[in-house]
Amino acid sequence: MAERSHGASTMHIFYTVFICFTFIHCATAIPWTQEKLHHRAVTLTQDEILTALSHTDLEQMWQRDLRPLLVTRYPGSSGSQAVQEHIKTTLGSLGAGWEVTEDKFRSHTPYGPLPFTNLVATLNPSAQRRLVLACHYDSKYYPPQWHGREFQGATDSAVPCAMMLEVARALDEELKTQKSSSPDLTLQLIFFDGEEALFHWTPTDSLYGSRHLAQKMESTPHPAGATHTNQLHGIDLLMLLDLIGAPSPHFGNQFPSTTPWLTRLQNIEKLGHIQDDHIPFLNRGVRVLHLIPSPFPTVWHTFDDNEQNLDRSAIQNLNKIMQVFVLEYLDARPAVPSITSITSAPSPHLDNNNPMIHLILSGRTSPEFHTTQIPFHIQPPPMRTERSGDFSQCSRRYVKAAVIPGRAVRSCGGFEILRSHVF
Ligand SMILES: [Zn+2]
Repeated sequence: MAERSHGASTMHIFYTVFICFTFIHCATAIPWTQEKLHHRAVTLTQDEILTALSHTDLEQMWQRDLRPLLVTRYPGSSGSQAVQEHIKTTLGSLGAGWEVTEDKFRSHTPYGPLPFTNLVATLNPSAQRRLVLACHYDSKYYPPQWHGREFQGATDSAVPCAMMLEVARALDEELKTQKSSSPDLTLQLIFFDGEEALFHWTPTDSLYGSRHLAQKMESTPHPAGATHTNQLHGIDLLMLLDLIGAPSPHFGNQFPSTTPWLTRLQNIEKLGHIQDDHIPFLNRGVRVLHLIPSPFPTVWHTFDDNEQNLDRSAIQNLNKIMQVFVLEYLDARPAVPSITSITSAPSPHLDNNNPMIHLILSGRTSPEFHTTQIPFHIQPPPMRTERSGDFSQCSRRYVKAAVIPGRAVRSCGGFEILRSHVF
């Protein structure tokens, strides 16, 4: 009887716990399609931001990605084909492993039927949720007999597309790690074709690529085999970049904080409904962030929308903002080089006029940084100086060490800027 009673009591506890667990589970579990509404981006530390941004290189982006895009590239043109190849080759060469798919179709236009191709690159195709960056790679068509010049469409939208390729290239290492550590959330890059009207902007002569892709994604089950959800449900946020690269864009420069950035962008978006590639997605309930300056650049749809009129510092700032935003949204924290111990070794050069000690740094970072000796010039407090140390053994890594004589290191972290703080 005691045994039975004990058994009944155990069962009672079991069911109570089971019911409580079920209740809690039901109360807290949300469908995956709703997770985007509760998503919280992480906030990277200064060291993580410096690590992440150590790989972005405006000059490299300019030469490798922007220049190849600054060609006449209206739908069906040879320039369009070359740009598509460039995007596919670039993403295919990266270590993170992008899956690039083509959405090819023909559509009637004022100039007769034309071929269009959207490119969709997905970091991890098996992930349910995607942060999407999008741009249009086509350029506006100007009949050659009307103008002797080539329309480059630098801000519209060669720069945004080059920025997206730069995100993928600069963050390759971080994205590769994120892919394996966060299997449910990934990054997707969409390169739309046919955003521009070929003749005059009308609902049917514009947004050819985005209208087609939004419809296609809506009718494609996601995840594979799903009956009630489609690829549009998989979009956490669609960030559309357009008309970027002119000086003083009116969406501020608030790096590194992304919260005011988002608020600002959303406020800009509320000012008016600009017809762009986000509309077919917005109309289907996709959450959109439209990164477009308001007002438009003064060179908009003129032959002055060219390389010469781009603002490098504005582009570089936006590159950094974009990259930090992507990492924070995806919770892709860069591996910051760290120094785990520092000991000082006597230096033969140590004297009062030229005080110097050797610091032996040991730490976890990359293969090229294990233990290294760094000579530091020490000046007595409260004087403060900044000097470059001999970081040759650190290779491309940056070592920052705040050193208090007689004590130890206060902080350290890492990248390419060779700099040390000696207090
Ligand atoms: Zn345009």
